[in-house]
Amino acid sequence: MRKIWVGTGWKMNKVLAEAEAYALTLREFVELESPKAEVFIVPPFTVLRKVCDLLKTAPVKVGAQNMHWEERGAHTGEISPLMVKDCGAHLVELGHSERRAQFGETDFTVNKKVLAALRHGLSPLVCVGETASEKAFGVAKESVVRQVKISLRNVPENRIGDLMLAYEPVWAIGESGTPAEPEYANSIQGFIREAISELYDDKIAQQVSLLYGGSVNTENASSFVKQAEIDGLFVGRAAWNVDGFIQLIQRVEKGP
Ligand code: PEP
Repeated sequence: MRKIWVGTGWKMNKVLAEAEAYALTLREFVELESPKAEVFIVPPFTVLRKVCDLLKTAPVKVGAQNMHWEERGAHTGEISPLMVKDCGAHLVELGHSERRAQFGETDFTVNKKVLAALRHGLSPLVCVGETASEKAFGVAKESVVRQVKISLRNVPENRIGDLMLAYEPVWAIGESGTPAEPEYANSIQGFIREAISELYDDKIAQQVSLLYGGSVNTENASSFVKQAEIDGLFVGRAAWNVDGFIQLIQRVEKGP
């Protein structure tokens, strides 16, 4: 049985006071309620160390939103795996569609980052998803499978269980996004698992947690997690307010 995950990426939001207040309320909730779901948050770099410190003893994993693959060097403005690890983070989000569209991230750089993360004991959370035009041209499956196969290249089979994938159709994300139909998301996630099985084998493919992200809210959350291939949710806007995040965790626990 794979675990159920509920996480949020804050993107470029929250200064220190806001991040602290969020982390303290979340800590109180998880310590009191002990949710069965694995909870994680992905704050911006500027508050990463503080949030990691506040949640050190709580059952909440904390991640960075990106990182370079090198440990150090002449890469102005970048953050290395050593630095992410030094903050106390457990995971690192890689390949979010905004990084791909706005900052030139490619499947090949995501692959270098995945390998670097694993070398440094960080769990990669790899985001993949087709654009609206790829979907319209009927190549959603091909696009997503290509992203998965390149991102995972050379990942040793004994490390596959350390990574997670988030299927986030680009057309479903953000202000202008429309949530995917849960059955549609489930079918693409099935293709993702098949691709992992082609790279390794079916047993290994079954170890990978596949999350869904894109306009998730308290109304639609449970319809996603009840799909066979969806092992959790990666949420943006609906979880930026800590009460919204807590409601989502509760919704996933309780079902529809
Ligand atoms: C995201 O950007 O990864 C995301 C899931 O955003 P939202 O939930 O706001 O659509």
